[in-house]
Amino acid sequence: MSLPTRQRLSEVRYEIRGELARRARELEAQGRSLIKLNIGNPGAFGFRAPEHLQQAIAGRIAQTDPYTHQQGLPEAREAIAAHHAARGTPGASADRVFIGNGVSELIDISLRALLNPGDEVLLPSPDYPLWSAATILNDGRPVYYQCLPENGFLPDPDEIEQLVSSRTRAIVLINPNNPTGANYPPELVARIVAIAERHGLLLMADEIYDHILYDGAIFQPLAPLAGDVPCVSFGGLSKVHRACGWRVGWAVLSGHRDKMRDYSAAMDLLGALRLCANVPGQFAIDAALNGQDTISPLCSPGGRLYETRRALIESCAASPHLQLVAPQGALYGFPAVVGPAAHAFDDHAFALELLESEDVLIVPGSSFNVPYRNHFRVTLLPQPDAMREVFARVDRVLSRRAAI
Ligand code: PLP
Repeated sequence: MSLPTRQRLSEVRYEIRGELARRARELEAQGRSLIKLNIGNPGAFGFRAPEHLQQAIAGRIAQTDPYTHQQGLPEAREAIAAHHAARGTPGASADRVFIGNGVSELIDISLRALLNPGDEVLLPSPDYPLWSAATILNDGRPVYYQCLPENGFLPDPDEIEQLVSSRTRAIVLINPNNPTGANYPPELVARIVAIAERHGLLLMADEIYDHILYDGAIFQPLAPLAGDVPCVSFGGLSKVHRACGWRVGWAVLSGHRDKMRDYSAAMDLLGALRLCANVPGQFAIDAALNGQDTISPLCSPGGRLYETRRALIESCAASPHLQLVAPQGALYGFPAVVGPAAHAFDDHAFALELLESEDVLIVPGSSFNVPYRNHFRVTLLPQPDAMREVFARVDRVLSRRAAI
């Protein structure tokens, strides 16, 4: 008999790296050549971290041996605090910055510092599934507010407020959004802040895609609008700086210092228990935040992400089977299957068919905790031609299904 494991793991899924990805590896081992659009991992698509970030580490490799302070290297925290102060985060200072092994670790720590059994966290649906998983594994309960395609995947603040209960502790925003690409306007962010203020909730702003924006979209960070309302803002090197493997993320606390005192101490203790984050990557933070902007050119006409996004938009527009809300930011598209092809549609069965018969790996929409099953996610990282090829194959499968 297999060793029993933590029961609540049965409630947790992370299908971006799940069964389909395992099957893809089997097919590759058999010699099949796949187009894999399941992970927003720039390095896997030929992107390198910017040269000035590499240099920032290379010259100091001998200094990376010791543990750092649990919150991170002081100079790196100063750079993050200055970056946040410049964009309007009230009271940003190095003592309120926590550096982690990617935003992933900090999502877990920040929820662990907050939740008691049965506490509720308001999460977007669709969500980035680590948010649901970390809520559940820290004994909380995800309560989803809907971000529907007919609303441009924007949330409805009235719905969020209706979902607040005596057990609610936090509202999570993912902006710009993974998987939908939605970018939230300032009025919407302000209304969500007001809800948190009225009900004494912590705001958690996952802003890891903050500078990945298309077609003139302007990012509204949450903390500058939150003032004294308790808030944790997350950012990192993985996406904007294409250094996923370096495992560098940060969480910045804001809001009234008295209100945040115990929470800050809890974060500090949890940070201390895991000693510190990966040190070499921390040496690149100052260079990343104060060096040349290398992401905007990729997101502008002629840039790789922009052109691949264009290929996605044009492919979906040309397909009788697909509808897309054009992503305004982040690294993904989240198209819907519509019309006869969507009849009795099961997004997992579709993803498996696409993999087995067309050598394309995507992520079924229901992996992102949505109540519907006719969406799928692709990353915008491949070459534009590869994206067009993927959608030719998607159309082939959907046309077969529509004909049945
Ligand atoms: N938050 C969101 C919305 C993400 O999409 C990801 C990774 O895809 C993460 C957090 C985790 O990023 P990191 O590499 O910093 O752990």
